[in-house]
Amino acid sequence: MSENIYDIIIIGGGCAGLTASVYARRAGKTVLLLENNSFGGQISLSDGVENFPGFMNISGVELSDRLHTQATALGTETVFDTATGIKESGAYKTVTAEYGEYTGRAVIIAGGLRHRKTGLAEEDKFIGKGVSYCAVCDGAFYKNKGVAVLGGGNTALGDAAFLADMCESVTVIHRRSEFRADKSTVLKLKGKSNVNYELDSVLTAINGENSLTSVGVENTVTGEKKEIPVSGLFVAIGQLPQNGAYKDIVELDEYGYIKAGEDCRTSRAGIFAAGDCRTKELRQLVTAAADGAVAATNACSYADGVE
Ligand SMILES: Cc1cc2nc3c(=O)[nH]c(=O)nc-3n(C[C@H](O)[C@H](O)[C@H](O)COP(=O)(O)OP(=O)(O)OC[C@H]3O[C@@H](n4cnc5c(N)ncnc54)[C@H](O)[C@@H]3O)c2cc1C
Repeated sequence: MSENIYDIIIIGGGCAGLTASVYARRAGKTVLLLENNSFGGQISLSDGVENFPGFMNISGVELSDRLHTQATALGTETVFDTATGIKESGAYKTVTAEYGEYTGRAVIIAGGLRHRKTGLAEEDKFIGKGVSYCAVCDGAFYKNKGVAVLGGGNTALGDAAFLADMCESVTVIHRRSEFRADKSTVLKLKGKSNVNYELDSVLTAINGENSLTSVGVENTVTGEKKEIPVSGLFVAIGQLPQNGAYKDIVELDEYGYIKAGEDCRTSRAGIFAAGDCRTKELRQLVTAAADGAVAATNACSYADGVE
């Protein structure tokens, strides 16, 4: 075997990719992991995680550090590089990247996703201090408080319904007069008495000192401007899977997620997809970790069959 041919190449060093590397290394495989930003992925942006088994509360940075430390201690080779595509090289797969090409027997794509942002200047400052992109993850931090949800699709209205059951009030801010969400989701939300609506309205400001205290909205029809006191703003205006580079080698769904089931197998033999980047119901750390384990186990078996 050439030294340059890895058993498994993993794209993405978030929870899914790092877990996959742990399983593959413990199975005795050579593993290269490419990461182009920060190890830990999305969760490194979180102030506190309360739903990862074994931890009552852990900061996203510490969890990321622990995942990375475990992966490298087991011998995962890591490279800072951006994967730009995958091509077949005979029985092998070659990952093309900004700074080089890497060849392996099997590839696991674990590139996660990014959340569409509001674009307002203060948004980044308040991530983890009032601004959230995940109601299931962070809703419990806003128990009995007033929150706002930005968006009008199924995710936004589902988030609003989930939050309404624990928060004092929920204000849904949506730029149109009608929701894009399914009728049943809209009706479910309309049945909740603590939900208010700011329709035909855009978010104009995210305010606070050390944490969020209010948001500004403007009605685009009447021109009326309001400041709404809230402790939390849940931004649910879209998720952006980072899968464009792989669209010619694996099938994507209409939203850009890699089509793969619970076995993490994609439409291309030898290429697996794990974590938030694939089609799935629940995008969370535990499901990313579970995918990492499944994808690695199946990738190891596949690699065994490649000379
Ligand atoms: C603020 C915040 C709070 C959250 N809180 C919780 C929580 O409390 N509990 C919970 O269960 N979940 C939480 N989540 C969701 C959780 O973080 C995700 O479900 C999880 O991170 C998914 O892991 P992943 O490995 O699939 O993807 P990601 O975490 O997105 O990691 C993917 C990695 O791949 C890298 N990458 C992407 N493309 C390339 C490329 N071309 N080349 C090289 N590297 C690439 C990215 O830089 C990234 O590091 C939260 C998310 C956010 C944003």
